[in-house]
Amino acid sequence: MRVGIIGAGMSGLYFAYHLGEAGIPYRIFEKREAPGGTWHDNNYPGLHVDVITRSYEFPFARKNYWSKRYAPGSEVQRYLTEFAREQKINPNIRFATEVRAATWEGESWVLTLDGGETETFDVVVAATGFLRVPKQPTFPGTDTFAGASFHSSEWDHDLDLTGKRIGVVGTGSSGIQIVSELGKQGHRVKHFIRTPQWIQVKENPKISLVERLLLRVPVLAGHWDRKMAELRLATDGPEAWKLSPGPERDEMNRRFRDKLVEEIPDPELREKLTPKEPLGCKRIPKSPDYYRVVQLPNVEPVFGGIQRAEEGGLVDADGGLHELDVIVYATGFDTHAYMRPMDVIGPDGLTIDKMWSEGVYSYRGVALPGMPNFFLLNGPFAPVNSVAIPTCLRDEVGFLMRLLETIKADGLPLAPTERATEAFCNGVRQALPETTYSLCDNWYTDQGGTPIIWPFSRQEHADQYAAVSLSDFERYPARGGGVPAGSPT
Ligand code: NAP
Repeated sequence: MRVGIIGAGMSGLYFAYHLGEAGIPYRIFEKREAPGGTWHDNNYPGLHVDVITRSYEFPFARKNYWSKRYAPGSEVQRYLTEFAREQKINPNIRFATEVRAATWEGESWVLTLDGGETETFDVVVAATGFLRVPKQPTFPGTDTFAGASFHSSEWDHDLDLTGKRIGVVGTGSSGIQIVSELGKQGHRVKHFIRTPQWIQVKENPKISLVERLLLRVPVLAGHWDRKMAELRLATDGPEAWKLSPGPERDEMNRRFRDKLVEEIPDPELREKLTPKEPLGCKRIPKSPDYYRVVQLPNVEPVFGGIQRAEEGGLVDADGGLHELDVIVYATGFDTHAYMRPMDVIGPDGLTIDKMWSEGVYSYRGVALPGMPNFFLLNGPFAPVNSVAIPTCLRDEVGFLMRLLETIKADGLPLAPTERATEAFCNGVRQALPETTYSLCDNWYTDQGGTPIIWPFSRQEHADQYAAVSLSDFERYPARGGGVPAGSPT
């Protein structure tokens, strides 16, 4: 069995490690020239992980060199680069190689690469992530702006920002981190806020050298992890508040409102910064100091939408021109692209675009009906708001490794049945209205208005894979057009 992985970000590397441990040959295709995925692309000033970074490490590759509780993005990129090298994954990666198409050829997948070359695999895993394709702003005139402009994930590090008038568009995690950092550095920043967001004020203390050394002792590391888990519970609240209404949700609403009052004494500014959308419907940006920074004299929040860009800057909703030298578009990502624009052409000419024409879906975030031996990591309905990526990968990869064993033993490709996929998607959709995720438009929401996200607890995410039945899958004949040939027993 040979596995083709698309993407050398966290998911692709995590999966590659486990394939290596199991002695299964694989190759990763990575369009960039280095591993890291979103951590490779995103390197804007102020970037840091917004979950406690030890929970962002792979448990089988501890480094404990994080300089802060929420480490700078450069440290995560270093971690992933070292991981790929030390685990000898690099020789199996074809860098600077984009996969254009995956085509099912009756018994295997043929990957067509950007140079036209092809490679054949028994199994393909799209580890392409969802924060990859930059979403450009929709207002007109962006090409007429005379200054420098770029998306937050395409930062121009050659540009000297000294003395420049900088506009930052967007109040997601990227925009909040960028404004906090540029403002603190004393740059002149205008923050364009179309929709104010609830922001969690989280201190980000340094981890001392002594602490880092102590973390190398497993028993002390265990103690530290328990302390951090308690801290997280105290600051983030129990996960139940996002999943269903009740006293926990009321308490979180109160806490965030109180914090705004404490941080923003000016009632007029506070009113403007107070979100109209319910808490937790968008992924909550975390920052130790955004509220302090937005009140600095060199930082100006600009509320309302943007009419257009023009040669001199951005025109706000009231028609006022804000003259700028640099515009940073922290406008998010096309989070429902997944592996696309790559084509996926399965049995009987089924394509991924046809399959997802009315919205993306999957079987448990990892598999697609009608697409034998084609799997995803962090696909539609993955717990991208509530579970740290390595924990999610532990669950998903553990399950995929078991599926691979079956496929290998059986010699026949597997895909989830339509019925099992529909039952899974229906279960998720029924639970969603109770969650905070369905209370406004956000980057999880699909074109039909349904958030594509895990609406249950972290434990239920792990449990679903332990309980999964192979009768949810059907075999595909090794040859002959991909007609499903019964379920494995
Ligand atoms: P995002 O959360 O999708 O935010 C995009 C922002 O751009 C929104 O405030 C949106 O406003 C605004 N926007 C988009 N088009 C606009 C337009 N035409 N005019 C004015 N404003 C416009 O994107 P993101 O900040 O890049 O974050 C995406 C996700 O990446 C996060 O939720 C998080 O999961 C991840 N992330 C993580 C970290 C980390 O520390 N680990 C850091 C950065 C990002 P509206 O709300 O009005 O649409």
